[in-house]
Amino acid sequence: MRVRKGSHAARRPEPDFTGEGRTHPQSGLSRFFFTFDLEALVSASIPVSFEFFPPNTPVGSEKLKTVVQELAAAKPEFFSVTYGAGGSTREKTLATVQDIAAMGFEAAPHLSCIGSTKESISEILATYRAQGIRRLVALRGDLPSGMATAGEFRYASELIDFIRSTQGSDWHIEVAAYPEYHPQQRYIRHDLQHFANKVQAGADGAITQFFFNPDAYFHFVDEVRALGVTVPIVPGIMPFHNYGRIAQISARDGIEIPRWVALKMEGYMDDTASIRAFGIDVVTKLCERLIAGGVPSIHFYALNQSAATLEICRRLGLA
Ligand code: FAD
Repeated sequence: MRVRKGSHAARRPEPDFTGEGRTHPQSGLSRFFFTFDLEALVSASIPVSFEFFPPNTPVGSEKLKTVVQELAAAKPEFFSVTYGAGGSTREKTLATVQDIAAMGFEAAPHLSCIGSTKESISEILATYRAQGIRRLVALRGDLPSGMATAGEFRYASELIDFIRSTQGSDWHIEVAAYPEYHPQQRYIRHDLQHFANKVQAGADGAITQFFFNPDAYFHFVDEVRALGVTVPIVPGIMPFHNYGRIAQISARDGIEIPRWVALKMEGYMDDTASIRAFGIDVVTKLCERLIAGGVPSIHFYALNQSAATLEICRRLGLA
């Protein structure tokens, strides 16, 4: 199993847990039941990264450059750019990554493999390599409806195997993790083992699907640590950019929005100011708990907007 890289840990003061101890006496669960000096922990600065999708229009691309400048206030480790299912945004992902790199920031393209041939993946990697890009988020992806062929890769682990065996070790590869488990996997035990195998294939770290229940994240980390996974597992955090859309995705992918949060959001009806204010409060508190629990870094699904993400970073003392 790959050991974690030193960079995150070196820049982050170790959380100083105090109080009742780290392990609950009956359950043996760590981090769920202890007291801590939240203020002191939250003031500890941790790295952040931000995720975008490739804009569809020249106007969108220009707007994204402004968003990059605004989010730069949080001194992000990198900006990642998603990759459309089946390679549908191949050129746009590349162009967006180039724009970000040209502004002097580290850019990490996502790369999904389902429906792809080894030759096409090699071409994409060669293009990125020529641009000096060495950081990737490697994924299986989902076959777009109507696309019949799965191509030469079945799972993300096969993509990572392929990259490591053809390209060596100089890519920093992140993979996806699912604290509330992958929605297509019926057996949780299998999902955890597949995740561990994917890391074993050569991942340097993982970024999680978004979640609103910090216990789900901590429990997932404990479970995969027990399987020998040692790489950093970075929580992926979704600000409530658009409550209706996030509720839809959550319902589709089995992500729990706490009932009290959903009820309150729904109760605001079309009062967008209250939805925004409450959403920022909820997500800031989630991040505070994660930082207090010792997360290595936070990855924000910024979705090409800066306002909510930046406000959360400011409240956390990260921008
Ligand atoms: P995998 O790790 O391959 O897992 C997929 C499923 O297969 C799981 O159910 C797993 O348990 C199962 N599995 C794995 N190995 C085996 C095996 N050997 N035998 C049987 N079953 C197995 N999608 C995009 O299209 N573009 C993006 O840019 C993108 N970015 C993402 C970024 C993050 C941080 C996250 C969390 C997700 C992202 N996704 C993206 C979504 C992702 O592509 C989907 O969730 C997809 O369904 C799974 O991809 P994966 O890489 O997690 O797959």
